[in-house]
Amino acid sequence: MNAIPAELFDWSQNAPSHLFYQTGGRRPFIERAEGVYIWDAQGRRFLDGSSGAMVSNIGHGNKRVLDAMRDQMNATTFGYRLHFENEPAERLASVLSKLSPQGLDRVFFASGGSEAVESCIKLARQYALAKGETKRTEVISRFPSYHGSTFGALAVTGYGPLNDPFAPMVREMPKIPAPRAYLDRDNSSDEARGLRYADMLRGKIEELGPENVLAFIMEPVGGASTGALVAPDSYYQRVRDICDDYGVLLIYDEVMTGVGRTGTFLAAEHWGQSPDIIALSKGLGAGYVPLGAMIARRDIVDPVVANGGFMHGYTYAGNPLACAAGLAVIREIYEQDLMANTARIGALLKSRLDNLTARFPFIGDVRGKGLLLAFELVANRETMTPLPKDANAFAKLVEYAYEEQLIIYSRRTHGGYEGDHFLVCPPMIATESHVDEIMEKLTKSLDRLA
Ligand code: PLP
Repeated sequence: MNAIPAELFDWSQNAPSHLFYQTGGRRPFIERAEGVYIWDAQGRRFLDGSSGAMVSNIGHGNKRVLDAMRDQMNATTFGYRLHFENEPAERLASVLSKLSPQGLDRVFFASGGSEAVESCIKLARQYALAKGETKRTEVISRFPSYHGSTFGALAVTGYGPLNDPFAPMVREMPKIPAPRAYLDRDNSSDEARGLRYADMLRGKIEELGPENVLAFIMEPVGGASTGALVAPDSYYQRVRDICDDYGVLLIYDEVMTGVGRTGTFLAAEHWGQSPDIIALSKGLGAGYVPLGAMIARRDIVDPVVANGGFMHGYTYAGNPLACAAGLAVIREIYEQDLMANTARIGALLKSRLDNLTARFPFIGDVRGKGLLLAFELVANRETMTPLPKDANAFAKLVEYAYEEQLIIYSRRTHGGYEGDHFLVCPPMIATESHVDEIMEKLTKSLDRLA
């Protein structure tokens, strides 16, 4: 064996970092994690109140998932999908198709959410080509929205700071406003608002020319860009009807909402919806492995396969280790009845967050489903006037919470209205006492902001 050059692996935590990420400022080094808690290298214990970025759905360090991964690792970690089939991938695809609406039984794996979204867009395009509808290229999405950071996913993302640097390089896709009905000050009913927002899709399709429109992509419950935005109930079926009227494919980006996060396996189930293509990621690998998936209607996939195959793929797609972990994660969700827990604990946490509005007049809105919950800070609740950007509330509150050893997730919204929202999304294993702990730490942090 060769001697390793000593300086190659020489490293100290205090050395200047070679890494760079979006947010400045260094964070503590993570040491270990278990359940809803994360310990740093100084031994401080943090409550993971956002499951990372809404990822660690079944909590950290789950022994059965780790065992399943270890078993798979002992067999093989990789078999290239063009050379070998593998059983974990087949099994996971089978489970996902059983958990999806009728007819969606074709699965394509990826390693993350952006990759899954790219796959959805490319499948939609190849389907149109297979049908001879070559003009269909427009993928309508919403503003604000977040669908990922690779170029294809970015084209359908509506989030200024992420789009702007690349605007000359990415063909930005057409957008309609996200259904932020909570900002509307008119007297119309929720139902009417939902329909009004959905009808903007019809308007956009007509404007673009239906023959040019390929798909509409939406997050059924908003994530980072809108802060757990839930549309009025009437929105969902109306969107489905409009897509059907024009032969436009409906893509649900369930990267954040899927795999139980909102209390059902797919958020689509809350509204009895059956999209044509679904993107999953985050909770599927649940922090154990990078994993994403696209689930699509068989009658969309078949013509593409017959027409020369799906011109798309990732080296790590469907690798046995990731798929074995994904299978174990879903098994755990069922064995521990975590979707029911999510619905129950989510309702409790939401009501406790609602109660905060009495104490803190600057909380303008509390929203979400299951354990995908958020609150928004405002200067004036009556008018929903946002806090000025330079108040920096979105950064400050996260720091205060950090000092209380609570992790929450903040974003400043974009798209006409710029506000500060905070996602409170603990793992689906959270209990009543975790809710108490979150609320105590959050209240202290909000007190400092007041
Ligand atoms: N789609 C949605 C709805 C997301 O929330 C995210 C990530 O936050 C993505 C796509 C992109 O996923 P990834 O960061 O794994 O590429």
